[in-house]
Amino acid sequence: MLDRPLRAGILAAADNVLVRRAVTRYGMRLGARRFVAGESVAQFLPVARAANAQGFAVAATLLGESVRDRGETQAVTREYCELLRAFAAEGLEANVAFKLTHVGLDIDAELAFENAARIAAAAEEAGTAVRMDMEQSCYVDRTLAIYRRLREMHANVGFVLQSYLYRSQSDLSAMLALAPNVRIVKGAYLEPPERAHPRKRDVDESYLALAELALSHDGYTAIATHDPRIIEHVARFAADRGLARRGRFEFQMLYGISTPLARRMLERGYRVRLSIPYGEYWFPYLMRRLAERPANLAFFIKGAFFPNSSS
Ligand SMILES: Cc1cc2nc3c(=O)[nH]c(=O)nc-3n(C[C@H](O)[C@H](O)[C@H](O)COP(=O)(O)OP(=O)(O)OC[C@H]3O[C@@H](n4cnc5c(N)ncnc54)[C@H](O)[C@@H]3O)c2cc1C
Repeated sequence: MLDRPLRAGILAAADNVLVRRAVTRYGMRLGARRFVAGESVAQFLPVARAANAQGFAVAATLLGESVRDRGETQAVTREYCELLRAFAAEGLEANVAFKLTHVGLDIDAELAFENAARIAAAAEEAGTAVRMDMEQSCYVDRTLAIYRRLREMHANVGFVLQSYLYRSQSDLSAMLALAPNVRIVKGAYLEPPERAHPRKRDVDESYLALAELALSHDGYTAIATHDPRIIEHVARFAADRGLARRGRFEFQMLYGISTPLARRMLERGYRVRLSIPYGEYWFPYLMRRLAERPANLAFFIKGAFFPNSSS
């Protein structure tokens, strides 16, 4: 996580129309491909196959959020269902993770629920799972409510909790009776100090507490972070409790980030899932990755001035 002012600056720039236009126009060429598999399913599938061939499980995301057009939410839902059928046809070890605002949460919670239920049913048919990402804090209640409804119909659904939010501890406690499939993350959005820990140290402590709580109860836990300290802590905690390296939990990392660490965890016998996004609407995703780490910004700017350098 970055210093708050720099992080805030990058996330604010993401809302600037000119920045958006320029980055969208040149970004894929400059370096967005480091984090995004491509703009189409045809570009995504070879990346997913290659990840499976190396031993990684895959979580696929069609990039997009804040959609306000019903027809578009239905098209997104159809694309996820087709993707799931492609996974089954190819025998890929892959599931999907999507944002509820991509399938209608900004229009009507019932529409989002119906679309999410269609994706969950398609995942069940394909013999795999589906997870709803967690977005800004204003969506948490609605996301958890939809998760509860889906969980009554399907066992293969999961949700996400963000350790920067004060409320996440009690949200997790309230879900434990469902033996939930929960992904724990630090949190990628700019949240006010009334709702989220402003200090990184507290976010990390909260992460460890959430991970330990989840791993101490029934269910399945996805430890989604590139933080080696947290990863080691969880590996030790799980070993002390006699949890097998595959079965009750997995590590998850983002495509293009901390790949050597992901490989090491795979070699040590853990299940590691790469979250691989694709799609034309990659701008906000890229901006969140840049906001997390200044070195990424340097990499990107370098790409603009020295397009042929390799790094
Ligand atoms: C699989 C997965 C799913 C996620 N889903 C969500 C979600 O649903 N909702 C949500 O709010 N957030 C989500 N996130 C993002 C998350 O909240 C963090 O913003 C992100 O993971 C960075 O935090 P970190 O845990 O890696 O720890 P940090 O303390 O930020 O980073 C630890 C180390 O990881 C490396 N690193 C971290 N980020 C980057 C980067 N962008 N580029 C290069 N190196 C980096 C650096 O070496 C850094 O020192 C997800 C993350 C992952 C891995």
